Amino acid sequence: MNKILVSACLLGNKVRYDANDVPTESNLLDRWNSEGRLIAFCPEVAGGLSVPRLPAEIQNDDGGAVLDGTAKVFDNQGNDVSENFINGAKKALETAQSNNAGIAILKEKSPSCGSSFIYDGTFSSVRKIGQGVTTALLERNGIKVFSDLEIESAAEYLERMNVK
Ligand code: SF4
Repeated sequence: MNKILVSACLLGNKVRYDANDVPTESNLLDRWNSEGRLIAFCPEVAGGLSVPRLPAEIQNDDGGAVLDGTAKVFDNQGNDVSENFINGAKKALETAQSNNAGIAILKEKSPSCGSSFIYDGTFSSVRKIGQGVTTALLERNGIKVFSDLEIESAAEYLERMNVK
């Protein structure tokens, strides 16, 4: 059965910038977890950032532009943490590929894990359309990313691919 890369914070790991997790109730996640199919992964920790850490946002663009070197990620004290985010994304891709994970379920709005929305770079809780750095790299490499709000869509996708 196909493995699924999942944002570690959605699975009870307290790895967010504020040292919390994001409790996520889902019968599907519970079932996949009991089947041993979930790979918990936090790209920001894998990229060398600490827990807790300063909140960070992508300035002016989105994760694809960070990969292309035309945008950067800064924390709220003005430190450039782009390399940490890019390294974490690369490790997420390596982990997904080495485990044959065809899809990922990642936390929406994160500058690493967001798939439809991220924050706008002003640290004022304003969101905009865009992908995080890890999501952009996974999707560029053929790994379909769903958000934590799209878990049923992920299950339908796996069913369509006949890898439920
Ligand atoms: Fe969760 Fe992703 Fe942020 Fe790590 S980088 S805390 S997995 S949303």
